Amino acid sequence: MSSDEQATNTASTETGTDLSGTEAGVADDSETHATAAATTSAGEPLVSVQNLEKYFWENDSLLDRLVGEDPVAVRAVDGVSFDIYEGETLGLVGESGCGKSTTGETLLRLQESTGGRVEFEGENVYEMDSGALTDFRQNAQVVFQDPFSSLDPRMTIGDIVQQPLDIHDVGTTDERRARVRDLLERVGLSTDQLDRYPHEFSGGQRQRIGIARALALEPEFLVLDEPTSALDVSVQAQVLNLLEDLQNEFDLTYLLISHDLSVIRHICDRVAVMYLGEIVEIGPVEELFDNPKHPYTKALLESVPRATTDERERDRETLAGDVPSPRNPPSGCRFRTRCPMVIPPEGMQIEQETFREIMTARERIENRDISLETVGGDQIELEDGSVPSEDVPAFVDLLHERLFDEPLPQRHRERVDEAFAELADTNWEAAESTLRTEYETVCERVNPGLGEGGHPVACHLYGEAGDSANAADPDSWS
Ligand code: SF4
Repeated sequence: MSSDEQATNTASTETGTDLSGTEAGVADDSETHATAAATTSAGEPLVSVQNLEKYFWENDSLLDRLVGEDPVAVRAVDGVSFDIYEGETLGLVGESGCGKSTTGETLLRLQESTGGRVEFEGENVYEMDSGALTDFRQNAQVVFQDPFSSLDPRMTIGDIVQQPLDIHDVGTTDERRARVRDLLERVGLSTDQLDRYPHEFSGGQRQRIGIARALALEPEFLVLDEPTSALDVSVQAQVLNLLEDLQNEFDLTYLLISHDLSVIRHICDRVAVMYLGEIVEIGPVEELFDNPKHPYTKALLESVPRATTDERERDRETLAGDVPSPRNPPSGCRFRTRCPMVIPPEGMQIEQETFREIMTARERIENRDISLETVGGDQIELEDGSVPSEDVPAFVDLLHERLFDEPLPQRHRERVDEAFAELADTNWEAAESTLRTEYETVCERVNPGLGEGGHPVACHLYGEAGDSANAADPDSWS
């Protein structure tokens, strides 16, 4: 048996669970979650993130300024707030590029924030003097996603794990070496392997080395940034079980960043769902999985592979459109460009699906994402870029066919025809304005904000706008 297999089997035996990323595997931990969640609501948080912002700037070089380019903010993290309580695991979940990793790095001060505040044990991380910052860096560590690039290939694993102890001048040389041996054993590796190099280990073993290194300084808090996503499914479960064991043994507090909901459900007590730089829902893990509120959370849960045939055969709603750019995020609710529940204007009688299609057509017009040449194909030849007046009715019909699955009700057909006719004349602004005047939604005017309580959600369906007669029942889309 290889040492990797030994490590794998050790972790599996220790925990008595077999998690293969399936829902069957994750259900075993509900009791642990319930206990931990019950202890997290009391007392002061260990980590408090308040309105955290991290913007990256483009077109911001001296040359850009000389040629008159305006800097563009890429709002990777835009006003994020959450608390993490001692001994709990908070999951941060969302699609790739939503700002989760940047949030983790910024709260650890591996990147400087653009705004907001992070408190660790009540002290502002961004105002710490060098002594306090050194203590913070000992207390708050990170395990990175990629166990292949995060270990220096020229160092032995003994030196890698010992490096933080050397940097912080902890103990004598013999004490440091003894601690390294102890750490390697605790993460399921053999002390015989001290003098070997990272390339001699498998992915799962390398992640164990990364975890041992993160634990070297006896931290209280770990940011786990996609700690299993680069690993084989069979090894993922063992590393997660190891993290749980270590949390119990060393009273650790975790922020677990992951795009994988089965990982989140397995190990977390609470979950924060992120979309385009903002948190849209946060709550206890079982409650959020059993009763998701935000349409984005529902969509994420819908995307999880089903365990049973019955579930697989259930109709699944899919999300329209791509994730917008954080350079120019949508106004109001950032999910509105894809939300299947987007709220129609007050008093408007319209099917939800029809309204979604009209909003998507509006988006495409506002983004100039319709090629007028291709709408008419061989049937319509443009003159100076515009549709000849005699061809406008045909152009409008063809554009309807392209953008709508079903014919629109008469009233909406007339208004959309008007906008499409303006488009035929290349008057994009007028088309935009016509549709905005008729179909502007509260979801684009007002950012709903996250609110407060044990399970807050940033969605107008749960505020006053959701009480209006024409807003959909949020539970009607699951
Ligand atoms: S605020 Fe509007 S667009 Fe945003 S999630 Fe809620 S219903 Fe959808």
